[in-house]
Amino acid sequence: SSKRRGKGRWQVFDDTLLEAIERRRVLEAALRRAAVREDFDVVYQPIVDSSTDELVGAEALARWSPATHGAVPPAEFIPMAEELGLIGRIGMTVLRKACREAMSWPDSIKLSVNLSPVQILDPRLVSGVAAVLHETGLPPQRLELEITETALLGDDELALRTLNRLVALGVNVSLDDFGTGYSSLSYLHRFPISRIKIDGSFVNQAPVDANSASIVRAIAELGKSMDLQITAEGIETAAQREFITSHGCQNLQGFLISRPLSEAEFSDLCRAAGQERAA
Ligand code: C2E
Ligand code: MG
Ligand code: MG
Ligand code: MG
Repeated sequence: SSKRRGKGRWQVFDDTLLEAIERRRVLEAALRRAAVREDFDVVYQPIVDSSTDELVGAEALARWSPATHGAVPPAEFIPMAEELGLIGRIGMTVLRKACREAMSWPDSIKLSVNLSPVQILDPRLVSGVAAVLHETGLPPQRLELEITETALLGDDELALRTLNRLVALGVNVSLDDFGTGYSSLSYLHRFPISRIKIDGSFVNQAPVDANSASIVRAIAELGKSMDLQITAEGIETAAQREFITSHGCQNLQGFLISRPLSEAEFSDLCRAAGQERAA
């Protein structure tokens, strides 16, 4: 290492920086190739009803494992895809694959798919979603598109028109990571949102931290009064589950319920859930 070469700490820093730049350069090239080849996996994290424990849906989560690097987390490759102008294409690949796979699940199981704020501003988004629904045959009522508050910040007239057109297709729109962004309540009036997903950071702290508990309580109340469905994300412990359920959130998602599953594993879970219901 450069330390052994005895050039001091600045050289160490330079090496690390160069390595980061090189990694980034290689990953960008690999991501461009993957976007063209549609070389992504989709995993599905189960979502259950908080009062009955019944399996009600799944969130599709993109996975990318370039041969040279092993798995690269979405927190790294999604922003990269946004910067490189690849997110529209990658987003559609994920949506198409997820809708196709959801067709083999029971009709009662909903599918949630994340949309990047960049996609909301893309004039091809609505026709792209319509084409995927047509092509896969998934009933639009089974599809929920998750957006974040960031998507509503910039050109909010355009965002409003786009969301209204998506809802006109019959799909539902959820507000993801709620509480972490600007969380202006006016969004909930202005945009056609039917569900809030409470961010895992509040869910996590709620049983032990008074502020997080108040936020969860306030969001649950808001949901009730505005007729919005509530999903709590990031449930990891029984105490969190209990707190969330007692505050009237309808749906639960998190490692306590299940980690994200492969399509085969999720299909098995649907089958098992169906047998349990029939028994
Ligand atoms: P998100 O949409 O909020 O998805 C939930 C994230 O929380 C997932 O991380 C999931 O694996 C993780 N998670 C679920 N339960 C727990 C839990 O109990 N504890 C903890 N600590 N984490 C939990 P993942 O798969 O790494 O995705 C991270 C983010 O990347 C997503 O957050 C979403 O914003 C973005 N993302 C993933 N797939 C896509 C995609 O296809 N398109 C777009 N635009 N964004 C995506
Ligand atoms: Mg999400
Ligand atoms: Mg989220
Ligand atoms: Mg998140």
